[in-house]
Amino acid sequence: MAGDLIILSAPSGAGKTTIIRGLLERRLIAPESVAFSVSHTTRAPREGEVDGVDYHFVDIPTFQSMIAGERFLEWAEVYGNYYGTSLDGVLPHLERGIDVLMDIDVKGATSVLESHPEAVGIFVMPPSFDVLRQRLQGRRLDSPEAVERRLTVSLWEIRRYHQYEYVIINDDAARASEALAAILQARRQRSSRLKERAAAIAAGFEAEFESRG
Ligand code: 5GP
Repeated sequence: MAGDLIILSAPSGAGKTTIIRGLLERRLIAPESVAFSVSHTTRAPREGEVDGVDYHFVDIPTFQSMIAGERFLEWAEVYGNYYGTSLDGVLPHLERGIDVLMDIDVKGATSVLESHPEAVGIFVMPPSFDVLRQRLQGRRLDSPEAVERRLTVSLWEIRRYHQYEYVIINDDAARASEALAAILQARRQRSSRLKERAAAIAAGFEAEFESRG
């Protein structure tokens, strides 16, 4: 039984991190049933970020040697830094039947969906441009110029929402986390994914009726 590769993308400030936190804190799905891929990045850690937890923070030569060694499932340049998902961080979980949630940008998502058409794309949208602008300005992480840059990129990203199979409109964080849980849950109930267990149950029925003669 293989887990699903789940891609979550959103314009910066759309609330993706809050949605994921809500999913885990409210135990909307069993935490051990999903793994979060920890990306490699060449950007500097922000205050409070922990190496190996938020990202694997590496220098540019290390990142480039990983590209050359074909160790990435995908990688992209985002806001002037490199970001990538390593195969080592993803494949072992999928093989054990654990879903892997990847928080990656739209370019990375396009490349994963091309190489892995079975991956599940989810796009988180802010309810409007004004809400996104207010959120980016309110969190005070960026200079006004950086906020403008993120807003410009957001148009490019929003235009590509239809590449994704699912859209979550984040006008209420609690409901958005529930929507994410519902998507993960529904994927797990597919007959193709439950094949082994369902076949074993069906075989039990066959055996019972055979023994009755
Ligand atoms: P931040 O620097 O704010 O943590 O992330 C900036 C952007 O990089 C976000 O849109 C995030 O989804 C994206 N990102 C993070 N990790 C990866 C990755 O491994 N691959 C790609 N393609 N994008 C990533």
